[in-house]
Amino acid sequence: MTALRSGVVALVGRPNVGKSILFNRLCRSRDALVLDRPGLTRDRQYGRARGIVDADVTLVDTGGLHDSLTISEAIDDQVMLAVEEADLVVFVVNARESLTTVDFEIADELRKSDTRVLLAVNKIDGISGGNDFGVSEFSQLGFNPVFPISSTHGHGVSQLVESLVAQLPVLAAPSEIASDSISVAVIGRPNVGKSSLVNALADDNRCLVFDEPGTTRDAVRVRIGKDEQVFDFVDTAGIRRKGKTTDVVEKFSIVKALDALKSCPTALLVIDASEGFVEQDLHLIDYAIDAGTAVTLVANKWDKLDSHARLKCQDQIRRKLRFADWISVKYVSALKKTGLGALFELVHVLYDRGAFEVSTHELNEVLKQITTANPPPVAQRRLIRLRYAHRVASRPPTILIHGNQTDRLPANYVRYLENEFRRILGLEGWPIVVNFKKSVNPFSGRKNELTPRQQKHRARLVRHRKRK
Ligand code: GDP
Repeated sequence: MTALRSGVVALVGRPNVGKSILFNRLCRSRDALVLDRPGLTRDRQYGRARGIVDADVTLVDTGGLHDSLTISEAIDDQVMLAVEEADLVVFVVNARESLTTVDFEIADELRKSDTRVLLAVNKIDGISGGNDFGVSEFSQLGFNPVFPISSTHGHGVSQLVESLVAQLPVLAAPSEIASDSISVAVIGRPNVGKSSLVNALADDNRCLVFDEPGTTRDAVRVRIGKDEQVFDFVDTAGIRRKGKTTDVVEKFSIVKALDALKSCPTALLVIDASEGFVEQDLHLIDYAIDAGTAVTLVANKWDKLDSHARLKCQDQIRRKLRFADWISVKYVSALKKTGLGALFELVHVLYDRGAFEVSTHELNEVLKQITTANPPPVAQRRLIRLRYAHRVASRPPTILIHGNQTDRLPANYVRYLENEFRRILGLEGWPIVVNFKKSVNPFSGRKNELTPRQQKHRARLVRHRKRK
């Protein structure tokens, strides 16, 4: 088996060169299949590159943020962060326009760094010569080879992807990660106290720190032994320009979180309780759910809040988390070391639950119970039937239900199924995945041929009805 490559890839380039279309193509967004969670607009600037099958790539489109900034500041923030934080940069320029000073400025910055850069010349469709258009102008930028592509039509994208995958770091083999340890991603916005939390958890416990192999530079794995159990906390805090909390820095904290979620079945989403629960926290929860990670919300800096503020904060979290009220919330202070012991226990319990040990018989009893209490609706005058269920995977618990017309199940009924399975099977804390398999109608497309006797009977019935 070839080793799996993995890493963070940043798309860099000035506005309107087509980065977002390339991004969408590489992400091949599953959004159509994923139920939209209420109260959340999807941010389409970072995601797992599901269109790349040979590698586990976290993709970030660095563009689109610079309206309020001058071009140089934008270049400084985006390009510098991209080269510092990503494993590889795809620099996108527009084939239909001449190179601009901004392109050259970006190229200069990129060349100064030792991050690998691939130059994609986009929008080659409709240009005379197609793939053979004059690349010489673009090779002036100093990156070779040049990849002529069309993000809209897909030309040249597979060559770009092939080269990109070949240059990504190889993900550590699972055997290099202790098999009996529980990996926990520690994610959250900059300065909410992720590192402080991991340090506080490590205090008084056996602890070993090492670089996280195969992920973005700076991610650190802190191995902590607690009551006979080993936990590997993957601290994603290490964004280098911590002091400067710009949008771009925030964005990379999401990218790092996404990257860490790939290898961790459980996660702690740390928020700063004194700032409350913000939009980006919601996005991180959304990503964790999508990644199939059991996420626990950790409201840190609890020591900074008086009793009134605490009530307000608890109330806000409860309201914002209504769409995923099965997520546990813990209120802690990394500084004062309060509430920390319970975190180990909670993560351990969650991890064990995620093993999802349930027999097919039990699962089908539960399915019967759920559908009897609230049967699926009628679609096109036929009942939607959910016949039987079986367990497909654990962590996250994944169930496959066989039935007819399952593609017509309304989203709220699917959510009802998920919630009921979670409640009855005691899987609180896990984003459950329920998939469906539609049974093929054996009569579809076949005309019902009547026997001569049936034809006579039918004619008689019709005559009878007419007379009436
Ligand atoms: P990170 O970027 O999320 O890793 O955040 P850090 O761990 O670097 O913490 C950011 C700042 O918050 C530091 O100044 C910490 O001392 C402070 N901090 C972290 N946890 C707590 C806490 O529980 N209470 C208070 N009052 N401050 C905290």
